[in-house]
Amino acid sequence: MSYAKVLGVGLVGVTGHLVEVEADLSPGLPAVVISGLPDTALHEARDRVRAAVVNSGQRWPNRRITLNLLPATLPKYGSAFDLAIAVALLGAAGELPLLPVEGVVVLGELGLDGTVRPVRGVLPMVTAAVRAGLDRVVVPVGNAAEAAVIPGVRVRAVDTLHRLVAFVRDGTPLLEPPPPAPAEPAAGPDLADVAGQGLGRRAVEVAAAGGHHLSLLGPPGAGKTMLAERLPSILPELDDAAALEVTALHSIAGILPPDGRLLRRPPFQAPHHSATVASLVGGGSGLARPGAVSLAHRGVLFLDEAAEFSKAALEALRQPLESGQVHLTRARGGTRYPARVQLVLAANPCPCARPGGDTLCECSPLARRRYLGRLSGPLLDRIDVQVRVLPVRAAELMGTDPDGEPSAVVAARVAAARGAAAERWAAVGHRLNAEVPGPLLRRPPWRLAAQATADLRGRLDRGSLSARGFDRIIRLAWTIADLDGRTRPDQEDVREAIGLRTGEEA
Ligand SMILES: [Zn+2]
Repeated sequence: MSYAKVLGVGLVGVTGHLVEVEADLSPGLPAVVISGLPDTALHEARDRVRAAVVNSGQRWPNRRITLNLLPATLPKYGSAFDLAIAVALLGAAGELPLLPVEGVVVLGELGLDGTVRPVRGVLPMVTAAVRAGLDRVVVPVGNAAEAAVIPGVRVRAVDTLHRLVAFVRDGTPLLEPPPPAPAEPAAGPDLADVAGQGLGRRAVEVAAAGGHHLSLLGPPGAGKTMLAERLPSILPELDDAAALEVTALHSIAGILPPDGRLLRRPPFQAPHHSATVASLVGGGSGLARPGAVSLAHRGVLFLDEAAEFSKAALEALRQPLESGQVHLTRARGGTRYPARVQLVLAANPCPCARPGGDTLCECSPLARRRYLGRLSGPLLDRIDVQVRVLPVRAAELMGTDPDGEPSAVVAARVAAARGAAAERWAAVGHRLNAEVPGPLLRRPPWRLAAQATADLRGRLDRGSLSARGFDRIIRLAWTIADLDGRTRPDQEDVREAIGLRTGEEA
């Protein structure tokens, strides 16, 4: 036999597609030809596979070798096809009977010495295999736990090409994946640690309940970071579909914890203000790495010292915030990664960043305007909740004020509020208040009573509030009503919403 075929998986964004790796041997000058839109890594595969085959004690066929990866139209990146190529090649050379790997997806990168190395993206690859109706996969031992997360598939692991050859040739068993890891450890930091900060805590709770973006403005030491870091602790756990999506993105980035389990907590990403555009939105050669905005998908993207980010970085976030996904331009077609995040900005009110706040500030009014002006266009416009936080008073720190509620208590209110909103908006295809378009909120049956919006309409008439700002405050009022268990926002809810939007005292 001079032809053989083994299955692999290629990724387009987070979606895997079955790939047939064909090998054909023909008489002629010894050479290796690879076709089917391979990238540079695949060309390098030729040299890796040859060294690995020879160093595993197998005979390299000295004939004309044609390797073809189908479908040809699918772009293929990275080194995950190495193992499938090696097995197909040995099968075509008549060195191996391929019956044992028929209908089996084979994934893995080969080292020159024949070791099998872990690859990025195994989780979405195994998902694709299951979706294609296959129930057996062979993966690198370093990816076995991750692959075993997917139900309905028998995972076997290999550490060397030699082990896989021995299995195919005479049935020597492969390695078993480790037993499933226990449940994820408790969510990160808890709101109970935050002393005082009534307004800040309320802002975080409202943001969580309605899915609103949030900005925290205040001097250093005001606890902006503490508050932001605790937002994930009051968000609901991810459902199965979201958990798979989030885990797949982290798998493609190669940053899954080694014990293998679905990520159930909303992720939290806090890129430094010196972050490059590529690290924020993704990029790199070969299989593109998701950036912070995709690693925060279904969770929180926190920009601390937001005004210190480069203009290019802030600009690059505009498109993902609008569309919920990142589009990376590649040499051969683009890659899309999901990026539906809840944005939290923290910033000092001015460039001098004096801990005392406004009283010690030496900045000119122009410098202050310019500083925050960098945020205004692309980002600040999208942020529903904008509050100023001040350093905590000594009394709060000394614990004379009542203790802050723990995250679990707040999370229960958030979950109930989200449930009420989801039920209300189900008929119009939305789940969170932040997603509901303004015009819908201004029409019956959702239009609020004239009395509730009197103050708002006054501001609109005086020009101190834009139409967009009006809609944002109404959205917030709905969230506040949901949190407090009212079926419709009243005048008080609108008043609190104005405070959360404009920073005015409620
Ligand atoms: Zn200043």
